[in-house]
Amino acid sequence: QVFVELPYPGTSTLSIYLRNPSPDYTLRDLLSSLPPTVRLPPMSSLFFTMDRKIVSDSTPIFNGSPMPAFSTLRIDHRIRGGGGDGGATGAESRDCYLNMYADKKPDKVDPNEVRLSKWVNCSLSYEPLRHPIVMDELGNLFNKEALVEALLMKNMPKEFGYIRGLKDMIPVELAEIPGSKQKGSMRFQCPITGLECNGKSKFYAIKTCGHVLSAKGLKEVKSSGCLVCHKEFSDGDKVVVNGSEEEVKALWEKLKQKKKFGSNNKKHKIEGGGDGSNNKKSKLASSLVAPANATKEVYASIFTSSKKSDFKETFMCRSLPLGRN
Ligand SMILES: [Zn+2]
Repeated sequence: QVFVELPYPGTSTLSIYLRNPSPDYTLRDLLSSLPPTVRLPPMSSLFFTMDRKIVSDSTPIFNGSPMPAFSTLRIDHRIRGGGGDGGATGAESRDCYLNMYADKKPDKVDPNEVRLSKWVNCSLSYEPLRHPIVMDELGNLFNKEALVEALLMKNMPKEFGYIRGLKDMIPVELAEIPGSKQKGSMRFQCPITGLECNGKSKFYAIKTCGHVLSAKGLKEVKSSGCLVCHKEFSDGDKVVVNGSEEEVKALWEKLKQKKKFGSNNKKHKIEGGGDGSNNKKSKLASSLVAPANATKEVYASIFTSSKKSDFKETFMCRSLPLGRN
């Protein structure tokens, strides 16, 4: 004997007593032997549950049955189609969804925006660039304040691990576009050609004086000196600012050589290497082994000035007289 609950509210539980059933009697057979007074939808849309667990139609009722006698079974409707949330009826074409999302591509970043951002924001803090601005040997621009803070707090990200002190920062003079600060973020331009620094054209920083000029300006005006301050410079003093991937790679190679050379003189080891992968830069940066006394050096380079300076002190921290940098 089994009890069968029906999926309709208000109907009483059926008590079914099976006489002389065949040994391979299954739940499917039970369904077809329900009295004709019980009106049920087609069998294929029904299923049995017991204790809220689905029981297969082919479960035997007697021999080897998981159900003890006097079990209560429940018959339920199978919900066809989608998630039963009314959202998907299966009637819409898949194109509807494809078109709906076709215009929105939140993951795709506009490369122009990225390039402009590098000229507007500090590469470390992502805050708007403001004076004093410095550049690393790879042509990234930073707020000096952010770099000094990271050095002091010892929380310089690994990707900038090659910046160990003020000696690794190149002070740069960027020509501000008049009025750009009032409109929001400070924007810069070439002081010679007026080209905007927005990532669309190539710019060089001259390491010896820090002036940032467009490649176009440097090419058009033949001069062995800076076009702004007329200080002499060589080709090796030019650093591409916010350069392309290849240009940065070349700068990295140069930096690696320089570090190697410097460390050999000090009899310190720097481990290089690399496999030419895209992660080369950060891998190498993190694999540069700091000399044992690096921390001391960093601190010393920040807090002491070995050279007397003619510059007047500014609003900056007293330990950072301009002339020493
Ligand atoms: Zn200059």
